[in-house]
Amino acid sequence: MAGGATPQPLGGNEMPRFGGIATFMRLPGDTPVAELDVAVVGVPLDIGTSNRPGARFGPRGIRSESVLLRPYNMATRAAPFDSLAIDDTGDVATNPYNLLDSVDRITDHYRQLVANDLITVTMGGDHTIVLPILRAIVEKHGPVGMVHVDAHTDINDEMFGEKIAHGTPFRRAAEEGLLDPKRVVQIGMRGTGYAADDFDWSRDQGFRVVQVEECWHKSLTPLMEEVRQQVAGGPAYLSFDIDGLDPSVAPGTGTPEVGGLTTIQGLEIIRGCRGLDLVGCDLVEVAPAYDTTGNTSLLAANLLYEMLCVLPGVDYRD
Ligand code: MN
Ligand code: MN
Repeated sequence: MAGGATPQPLGGNEMPRFGGIATFMRLPGDTPVAELDVAVVGVPLDIGTSNRPGARFGPRGIRSESVLLRPYNMATRAAPFDSLAIDDTGDVATNPYNLLDSVDRITDHYRQLVANDLITVTMGGDHTIVLPILRAIVEKHGPVGMVHVDAHTDINDEMFGEKIAHGTPFRRAAEEGLLDPKRVVQIGMRGTGYAADDFDWSRDQGFRVVQVEECWHKSLTPLMEEVRQQVAGGPAYLSFDIDGLDPSVAPGTGTPEVGGLTTIQGLEIIRGCRGLDLVGCDLVEVAPAYDTTGNTSLLAANLLYEMLCVLPGVDYRD
């Protein structure tokens, strides 16, 4: 854990919020990895996308909108930057011409971070990236439990004949033994499918699938009590696809589905992960170009901040 002064976001009274270099939350961006507890990492990649591209610009969009965030969580009193050494460590150099090479580059990059005992908090990128991230994390921690928020289960066997794509990562992860299936919960699934039993492959693995209709019109705080019980007992990973939320609040994404989770439910899910042994988190599928207001990126930045607030070792000023 951090000793002494930890990297702090640049204050809005030191440099105006519209000025300076755009790191996540205006963190310094130059702290040596060996001195960090948590790396905020960008993975600009969208060549695993099946429909609308643009998630390669997700990290830039999120960094740009994250300038509005301040260090303390007024709801939970979390003080992540006083508790842990957190910095934006930049982007993975993905290969825009080769998805499989990009996947290997991502694993290599995360292997280095994980070797330094870092928790990684990732700005995607399309959802393909979770597979190479999990490969690196599981090498160190063993199979993980998972909270997966998404409109889609992402457990296709193949897409257009390809085994690696943004709709297949959790099928591959399960096959490769990266997941502890009894400790996996998927939340927010909906929309139209290729077959009526599309979500049942997940259930057959032992995952809990919470379709969005079970979430409509209610607080998800009670659900998260059950989720914590199910996912506890080992290392856990939080993977949050922005399309899990409704397109009315998150239009800037490639595969929108109507009838999604609310912003408030998204916050309840992340805050409900407090107490889990999180070894990594991600926020994926933000494609800023489809949302000229910037609100999708702003929402993503806030959700990533909330993830920082529930990491192991964060103190609460209460
Ligand atoms: Mn997804
Ligand atoms: Mn999705």
